[in-house]
Amino acid sequence: MDLGLKDKTALVTAASRGLGKAAALELAREGARVVLCARSESVLTAAEEIHAATGAGVDAVQGDLTKAEDVDRIVHQALERLGHFDILILNAGGPPPGAFLDLRPQDWEAAVQLTLMSTVRLCYAALPHMVARGQGSVVATQSFTVKQPLDNLVLSNALRMAVIGLVKSLANELGPKGIRVNSINPGWTRTERVEQLLSDRAARAGTDPAAEATRITREIPLGRMGTIEEYGRAVAWLASPAAAFIHGHALIFDGGAVRAAL
Ligand code: NAD
Repeated sequence: MDLGLKDKTALVTAASRGLGKAAALELAREGARVVLCARSESVLTAAEEIHAATGAGVDAVQGDLTKAEDVDRIVHQALERLGHFDILILNAGGPPPGAFLDLRPQDWEAAVQLTLMSTVRLCYAALPHMVARGQGSVVATQSFTVKQPLDNLVLSNALRMAVIGLVKSLANELGPKGIRVNSINPGWTRTERVEQLLSDRAARAGTDPAAEATRITREIPLGRMGTIEEYGRAVAWLASPAAAFIHGHALIFDGGAVRAAL
């Protein structure tokens, strides 16, 4: 199937590694021009790697999504390089693990900046440009915890629900203006973030990360964690014109881990 992504333009945030980088790679493979952003300098290397693998135009902008001035600069510089945005992939690092009683209000404030406000600020900076052109597609990466909270991830469990509320509201508001807005909600997909979470679980349970991975995959009907390549293809499809009538949707990408019927 042709996803219709050739020569489309995309900004993918938090893309120096993991899920963001995988999304950027797949969009580039499908012929899109892509700008990646992340905090660390490694985003420059990620852009070079994706360009070398695909031949697509790929640029990188460094910046911290928890800082309002950085978000405005990221969007401004991305727009200078791309000319316009067809696609916006909203992604950020995950908030730290922890149970409610282990955390303090300042942990919540930091997580609000990372998970909720980064999305809000990116939307304020980028969406007016899409609205002016009367077209565009937005995909926010959140988590399957919006369906079923995970132990010791209370910051993620709570704040991702707020982003889903934002996505659904934006879908109502911007659908009539020609802009599709969806979320993709990954379950266990092997990245550095997952390695950190496995270590955290092992430390709490007095086991080791491999034992925790086995325990998790036993609960996934497909019997394994997802790969970043599979995730990249799912995002590219959801963001693309091939998914033109999918709107306001929270796509669960989890190998069947969430058992709820809907
Ligand atoms: P990761 O830790 O492997 O990569 C995170 C990326 O975000 C990196 O490129 C990092 O540089 C960037 N980043 C972090 N903080 C940033 C900031 N303040 N400003 C700019 N860039 C920043 O994580 P991942 O596994 O790729 O996950 C991406 C998102 O998806 C996270 O929010 C994570 O919680 C969520 N998620 C992941 C999984 C999974 O199984 N991998 C499952 C559910 C949800």
